[in-house]
Amino acid sequence: MRWCLLFFIFFSLIISSAALAAGEKLSVENIRTGVTSGEGARIVLDLNQKTDFRAFALDQPYRIVLDLPATEWKTYQSKFITNNIVKAYRSGVLDDGLTRVIFDIKNPALIANVFPLAKDDFSKDRLVIDLQPASLSLFNARKGDISGNSGLKGVGAVKTPQGSGYVAVQNNLVKVASLTAVPALTPLRRPPKQYTVVIDAGHGGGDPGAMDYGVKEKDITLRVAAELKRQMEETGRYRVVLTRDKDVYIKLHERVDISRRVDGDLFISIHADKIGRKGVRGVSIYTLSETASDAETARLAEDENNSGFVAGVDLGQESQDVADILLDLAMREKMNESNMFAKMLRYALLQKDVRLLPKSHRSAGFAVLKAPDVPSVLVEIGFLSNPEEAKLLGSSQFQSKIASSMLDGVDAYFRKIQSLQAR
Ligand code: ZN
Repeated sequence: MRWCLLFFIFFSLIISSAALAAGEKLSVENIRTGVTSGEGARIVLDLNQKTDFRAFALDQPYRIVLDLPATEWKTYQSKFITNNIVKAYRSGVLDDGLTRVIFDIKNPALIANVFPLAKDDFSKDRLVIDLQPASLSLFNARKGDISGNSGLKGVGAVKTPQGSGYVAVQNNLVKVASLTAVPALTPLRRPPKQYTVVIDAGHGGGDPGAMDYGVKEKDITLRVAAELKRQMEETGRYRVVLTRDKDVYIKLHERVDISRRVDGDLFISIHADKIGRKGVRGVSIYTLSETASDAETARLAEDENNSGFVAGVDLGQESQDVADILLDLAMREKMNESNMFAKMLRYALLQKDVRLLPKSHRSAGFAVLKAPDVPSVLVEIGFLSNPEEAKLLGSSQFQSKIASSMLDGVDAYFRKIQSLQAR
């Protein structure tokens, strides 16, 4: 099978290279999931460093097991993440200090591929697990096969809390046969409430968005999104999901789907604008409404909603959905929250002396803001048609400033939400 071959190639690459950096403990910053070509699914762990690992499939019930050296969790240790194969994950600690992550799967599936990805400008070190559905007979034949480092060692005995459901795995060189008898781990205590924020870098791939002075909207939005993610995760208060972390095209409704699928608490779509008048500049913030607040905003919403058209997708009928969704009460509540966030974001930008467009909070029927259960705003971080602003938007200094203003706005918003909930 092709994926077996691929696996062995990666296997040999990984084993030699993945040594833990001395001193710093391995941490899982985030877990993401998605579908891959065919029937497959992909799980990605964002890590603070590269790591050794081993992975294998188990049955009764069907699971994929991932063992890591002692790991700190900076995201939920147990969360409903779902795709065509995975239905949830949880983690716990084995007696020898190894951290075990278990992915519950719906039907028999095998590890097609498991490999590390080194950190780059946009992403942390990652561990990628690709799963493929398997027939029962194939699953049974391969379920114990270990991918990765079968000799993965823990740090020695760890005291097992009473009645916690932890399991004892005494040997460092664990035999697959003994693992199959291991009961499922119970999830450990949750870290303090961590909000999930979905950051959407506008456009991408074949859809460059606005372009002027050699600057493409799709590049700026991606860089600001990555910087915002970095800053937000640094606080430890947020789990951040990017709708895209590279130059790829994603349909608008898929961006909305992602924010719902990951159970987002807030959705921020980042864009940059272009207009005929060169003098116009400044940041503006948009929320959803049935009717546009002004003609300029109606034009902008049309531009942004039609961005999918470049890649041959007609979103023309989506505006009707806005009217339908607006009837929904839940939607109205989320719109209130969206407006509250927009106000706080505007204030945070002013505090950091970021130039704003006059009347900087506007509303219109933006397709990407239509998740009925996730408060959503769209931010146009400036105008590429203004030469000074185009230059500014391309600078990492300004990108960082915009991101930190957004972080302030997000902080203020969730403080407000918490105080409202505490009443
Ligand atoms: Zn745009």
